[in-house]
Amino acid sequence: MTASTDPQPLDVLIVGAGFGGLYMLYKARQQGLKAIVLEAAGGVGGTWYHNRYPGARVDVQSMEYSFGFDEALQQEWRWSERYAPQPELLRYANHVADRYGLRDGITLNTRVTKAHFDEAAAGWQVQAEDGRQWQARFLVLASGPLSTPNKPSFPGLEQFAGPVYHTGHWPHEPVDFSGQRVGIIGTGSSGIQSIPVIAAQARELTVFQRTANYVVPAHNRPLDPAYEARIKADYAGFRARNRAMRNGFGSELPQHTVSALVVSEQELEERLEARWQIGGFGFLGAFSDLMMNPKANALAAEFVRRKIRAAVKDPAVAELLCPEQTIGCKRLCVANDYYETFNQPHVKLVDIRSAPIERFTAGGLISGGQEHGFDALVLATGFDAMTGTLMRLDLRGRGGLRIQDKWAGGPSNYLGLTIAGFPNLFNIAGPGSTSVFTNVIVAIEHHVDWITACIAYLDARGCRTITATEQAEAQWVDYVNKTADGTLLLTCNSWYLGANIPGKPRQFMPLAAGFPVYAQKCAEAAAQDYKGFELA
Ligand code: NAP
Repeated sequence: MTASTDPQPLDVLIVGAGFGGLYMLYKARQQGLKAIVLEAAGGVGGTWYHNRYPGARVDVQSMEYSFGFDEALQQEWRWSERYAPQPELLRYANHVADRYGLRDGITLNTRVTKAHFDEAAAGWQVQAEDGRQWQARFLVLASGPLSTPNKPSFPGLEQFAGPVYHTGHWPHEPVDFSGQRVGIIGTGSSGIQSIPVIAAQARELTVFQRTANYVVPAHNRPLDPAYEARIKADYAGFRARNRAMRNGFGSELPQHTVSALVVSEQELEERLEARWQIGGFGFLGAFSDLMMNPKANALAAEFVRRKIRAAVKDPAVAELLCPEQTIGCKRLCVANDYYETFNQPHVKLVDIRSAPIERFTAGGLISGGQEHGFDALVLATGFDAMTGTLMRLDLRGRGGLRIQDKWAGGPSNYLGLTIAGFPNLFNIAGPGSTSVFTNVIVAIEHHVDWITACIAYLDARGCRTITATEQAEAQWVDYVNKTADGTLLLTCNSWYLGANIPGKPRQFMPLAAGFPVYAQKCAEAAAQDYKGFELA
């Protein structure tokens, strides 16, 4: 392993051994580059290493949420379910690490805390928490858009006597809630996946909800062998069709070009019902304008509210579970049996919007003047998304420019990949790219392919540095903002906007242009000799 004693700088230093870091290491090595990965955790897998809460599973279908770069890999790997559970996803990450001999390039238990650009060396000086140092020509941040848990500072939380778990940082030892009273705060994707599973184990479950969310059924089931065989008969074609989709997945569903506003009431109901029965994110594709037109959106939202009222027996609980915001503005949730869970007598829903949490006590919390008791607490409170991990790094570019200063008003970058003032640095699946709006593995493969092609281009021409220009970056930020402007994505307080973190600048962070348009723009910049960059 290359450390401070090695006089030879690395070609590429990669931060993070999730899917992004693994594929980046594989691809860099294929290209003959000397590359390593530094990973803070004790194993590979990133998201799927940490998010091992009860019920954790992917909500993009397994046959799509997997690497497509190697036909042999995609043919040999077999998923057990339509939506793979977390242990299987972690096995897959480990399989990839072993299959491609990546382990000797990955240093675990090594948290990068510092990365400074060194002008004289035209590269990066990187330091870990324990003081070890590395030098590399290129720095690739594959630290994940959802990797820094959001742990709100609830008053008196430290007084709570029981264990506190965060879904995004779940312990590796088994957690047994049998016979316990459990409290859970948060009803986003992590909360809604874990609530039915924790309810099945706990003696009592109290769900503290600030904002109700739309949950469409997953209809998870064992993977149909006939479906698997059909996809594998032309996996490359399936991948290509998915890459042509706005979100990088879902090519099996027909694309509806009809507005929800022009069909009869019966047709509206039938089409929404058909998508509901299929399950998953395709629900929002039932009509062409659900994410653009507030009236169309309201029809789909009301359909889901009718489903909630039909599923939940207590009308008061059902009303509390009915979301008010536009559907799809906060990320749509996909799960099994979420609403039905609230019919169980030992599951209680507490509205902490009308009665906010006042403080914690040794045995629970007080909201609306009433104490709610529990033995263990689960925080399903999400992440400081997209920028949180970078903003906690001592990351300095040219002339000592700090990322905290550069991004004080919100993230800015070019093509979602590179940051002006930070030469030879690439960010995988970060802000300004379609990252979290796509099947993230499609986003990762695209980013890694673009980055490695860029390095090959630079090396072929003897260029030492590449830096996004301020002008290109400003235009890109403008483009990211304008793309969100025409949509309903700005109508609620989502983590896409940083609204879940007190004090975070309100800026729409991912690019809402759709993956094909985005990939085209990245390809165009590369084809025009890296337009928008300074090469030196
Ligand atoms: P999230 O969507 O941000 O949800 C966090 C929840 O905690 C929300 O209900 C939020 O309420 C609540 N909350 C946050 N701070 C709070 C506070 N101070 N007081 C009370 N409630 C508070 O986080 P997540 O569920 O972990 O999901 C984040 C993202 O990770 C997802 O959107 C998705 O992209 C990804 N994810 C994917 C999967 C999957 O593939 N299956 C699973 C889990 C997560 P408000 O809404 O009122 O802010």
